[in-house]
Amino acid sequence: MPEGVVIAFAAGLGAAIGSFLNVCVYRLPRNQSVLHPPSTCPGCGQRIPWYDNVPVLGWLRLRGRCRRCRAPISVEYPLVEALVAALWGAAAWAYGPSWTALTAAVFGTLLLGIALTDARHYLIPDEFTWGGLALGLALRIPGGWSGLAQGLIGAAAGFALLYGIAWAGEKVFRKEAMGGGDIKMMAMVGAFVGWQGVLLTVFGGALLGTLVFVPISLRTKKLVPFGVFLAAGAAVAFVAGDVIIAWYKTQILGF
Ligand SMILES: [Zn+2]
Repeated sequence: MPEGVVIAFAAGLGAAIGSFLNVCVYRLPRNQSVLHPPSTCPGCGQRIPWYDNVPVLGWLRLRGRCRRCRAPISVEYPLVEALVAALWGAAAWAYGPSWTALTAAVFGTLLLGIALTDARHYLIPDEFTWGGLALGLALRIPGGWSGLAQGLIGAAAGFALLYGIAWAGEKVFRKEAMGGGDIKMMAMVGAFVGWQGVLLTVFGGALLGTLVFVPISLRTKKLVPFGVFLAAGAAVAFVAGDVIIAWYKTQILGF
């Protein structure tokens, strides 16, 4: 199959998955089923027909308003759909039609879902963490026992490290410094990136969180949605982890 066809197919699939991710991000924090009922307009309750629900294009054709009541539909929906389409297309382009591409696309989609729910609700649904952990381990099965073992060790490392940080934070600050969602999230991340990737993710996430969020939180007193920064760190660890770790070993440790 020509490369362009593969990328286009992956992007189309990504758009559909992005559409489903929108449903998850909206409903999971509200403890609603993601399968039932079908999408309705929050303004008038009208069921949204399939032709208005086509990713990105449906929103564009309606110019961001409900067909019946003209209530505005957030631009976030087509943006998430376009982003996930780009993510799946980019994974197919970078890794070819392979398990690695599928793993990268699934991982990126999970991280985006976590970042969106954490930013908005300060919570990370179990479906993304425990569900993602199961997906991450399942995607390692084609890599054989050693691949699966790396995933399990990574998951245990992610869970233990964040559990330790949360425990120490509570001792030092005498209040909950990190939610259970972050701990479960890092178990999921570990299944995808391994234990070295876990260290890189936490380091990168803490660095990014400090640089970006401390100036904001000093002014607004808002809580830090740490999952957003861990998600960014995890994406870097997945894409460039091997390069960064190799650089660290030769340049810093002198191996
Ligand atoms: Zn409506």
